[in-house]
Formats: sequence, C-alpha cells, structure tokens
Amino acid sequence: MKNLVIFGAPGSGKGTQSDLLVAKYGFKHISTGDVLRGEIKKGSELGQTAKSYIDKGQLIPDSLMIDILAATYDALCPCEGVIFDGFPRTIPQAEALKSMLAERHTQVAGMLELQVPNDMLMERLINRGKTSGRADDNEETIRKRLTVYEDQTKPLIAWYEKEGLRHAVKGYGALEEINAALCEVIDSL
Ligand code: AMP
Repeated sequence: MKNLVIFGAPGSGKGTQSDLLVAKYGFKHISTGDVLRGEIKKGSELGQTAKSYIDKGQLIPDSLMIDILAATYDALCPCEGVIFDGFPRTIPQAEALKSMLAERHTQVAGMLELQVPNDMLMERLINRGKTSGRADDNEETIRKRLTVYEDQTKPLIAWYEKEGLRHAVKGYGALEEINAALCEVIDSL
C-alpha cells in the first residue's frame, strides 16, 4: 500500500495532478477540501461549521479535521494506496496522520511537493474563480488563503524533510511534464 501526500500552496495543481495519478495507479483520492464542500452541499451541521471557516479563507480546526480524515480514510481503505490532497495543512495534522496510519499498520511513503511561484498561484486561482463556482476563489479570500499557507502549512516542508519523505517537483509548465516528474518519484518509492 502506497500512501502519498500531495503538497503545495492553493493553486499549485494538487487536485489536477491527483486525478492523473488516480487514473494511472488506481489510488484512492482523499481531498479534504472536496469532502468539506460535499458536506456544505448536503447542508449538514459539519458543512455549516466548515463553511464559516472556508468562506474566510481560514483552516478548519485541527481536532475536527483529524476526525473527518480518519472517518474518510476508514470508509475507503484498506486499498492500493491513497493520495492525501489538502491534508495535512498543519504540523499537528501531519503528526495525527502519522499516528493514524501507524495504528493501521501503514505509513506515508512520500510527500510530493509541487513548487509554483507565488505570482503564478495568484493568477491561476483568479482564473479558476471564473469557472470553479467556489466561494473562496475571490481575490480577497485567495490572499488570505495564501497567507494561511505561508504561516501554517509551509512549515510542513521542513517537517517532511526531517522525516526523509519530501520530494520536490517543478509544479508549472506542461501538465504532462509535471505528471511525469511525479510518476518518476512515485515509481522510486
Ligand atoms: P482546498 O480545496 O484544499 O483548497 O480547501 C479549501 C478550504 O477547505 C481551505 O481553505 C480550508 O478552509 C478547508 N480545508 C481543506 N482541507 C483542510 C485541512 N486539512 N485543514 C483545515 N482546513 C482545511
């Protein structure tokens, strides 16, 4: 079983690349953003709570997010492998993922970091906002999400480096090239 974390700033292409990897390797895909948007659509209590954070570009509290992740994982697995997309976003989440997987006798095989310059992220997200229908793809919320990424999520790069799991890949240029670089890392794990 190969558990992978696809990592990067908002707009770095995690979702797009995850779809390509799922098609190639048959992994399950857990996008915590998609899970939360699904709950919002259903109008559940969890969805209402999530919406109050998402609309402000803030992160959902770790304790809640960790429970959601474990429930989502257990509904999908055991399986060939999982791509975690949008989780972890904080160091406590990374620690929780590590222990959750250890309890299930598995572990993260690698963290794949998509590197994209900041000005490109902004441009991609603004463009995405024209068609995504996502309430958080507007300029003000995008800026907030990028700041939250810098402050709370970026420290995970050093955390995964220390774990010996970090693999950085150029996250711009042709989609196929980015995908090929990711596949090369995955095949080496
Ligand atoms: P995403 O689709 O990954 O860009 O996530 C959209 C929004 O969902 C984020 O801006 C957060 O408000 C929330 N979210 C998604 N994943 C997490 C997470 N792991 N921890 C906290 N909040 C999250």
